[in-house]
Amino acid sequence: MRKRMLAGYMLLLGLITPAGPARAWGFFGHRLLNRLAVYTLPPEMLPFFKANIDYLTNNATRPDSRRTVVPTEAPRHFLDVDAYGDSALTRRGLPRAYTDAVALAGGEDSLLRHGIVPWQVAMMKNQLTAAFQAGDTDRILYLAADLGHYVADACVPLHTTRNYNGQLTGQRGIHALWESRLPELQAADYDLLTGPAPYLAQPAEAAWAAVARSHAAVDSVFKMEKAVSAELSEDRKYSYEPRGNLTIRVYSREFSLAYHRRLNGQVERQLRYAARLIGAFWYTAWVDAGQPDLMGIAQQPSVAAQLAAAQESKAASAAPARALPGHDE
Ligand SMILES: [Zn+2]
Repeated sequence: MRKRMLAGYMLLLGLITPAGPARAWGFFGHRLLNRLAVYTLPPEMLPFFKANIDYLTNNATRPDSRRTVVPTEAPRHFLDVDAYGDSALTRRGLPRAYTDAVALAGGEDSLLRHGIVPWQVAMMKNQLTAAFQAGDTDRILYLAADLGHYVADACVPLHTTRNYNGQLTGQRGIHALWESRLPELQAADYDLLTGPAPYLAQPAEAAWAAVARSHAAVDSVFKMEKAVSAELSEDRKYSYEPRGNLTIRVYSREFSLAYHRRLNGQVERQLRYAARLIGAFWYTAWVDAGQPDLMGIAQQPSVAAQLAAAQESKAASAAPARALPGHDE
């Protein structure tokens, strides 16, 4: 039954990943996660979020699309922990207050170079709390969809290292392998149902904990790729797929499945953790706003907000692909 339900999600979400640079969790994963997160919410929030589940699903990848039009967008999706050392993640490491971090880095440009995802999550949680307080349906939905994306990014090991695509260790392509190809191949077999979302007494710390958990998994992400590579010859390791006018080299299905077995449920565990954490941030923002009655506000985004969302997505797809600083290959 559970399996059939998940297969249903997959059908619903589509299995196509658009061509382009590596993106955390890919198109498929981000959509799946915002959707799963809705089901972690308490009864007071569930009807409103369920009524807008398609909006939350369809806009789950908007922050990635925005990277092509907003120059400051890219750094919001990652944190290169290894640029600072592991102690950066402790409370005595990088300052949790953004302005203090900017001062310590010697300017915003220096901080942005290595990514800002935990600060981004903490800031958006506060914005979402304010939107709940104002009873502003358009803002609530816009921010919830975006916040879900950044929380999900913080749960991807390769979003916490400078070697985000294996480009420094001869493992180029590992980003899409881990976060797109494995979930697409395996999600129907995953058990992704989580318990109810918990309240986060310290939301900013929760964002940092997510990054720390992801970063702790980086070693095995690379090590297992090497282990499987040692077992398979080059011609079995890769296959070739058409992407637009190009033919690109990707990890083969055989390699992907062997890698998945080696990781021993890592991708599944991170997906489950991410879905619950997204729900936890939405839930915490609502509690901190004083638990407003969500049945008393507009149940759908306004026509103006829907038009703006359509325009934003049109602008993003029309924009020429540009190389932007930070995790951009
Ligand atoms: Zn992203």
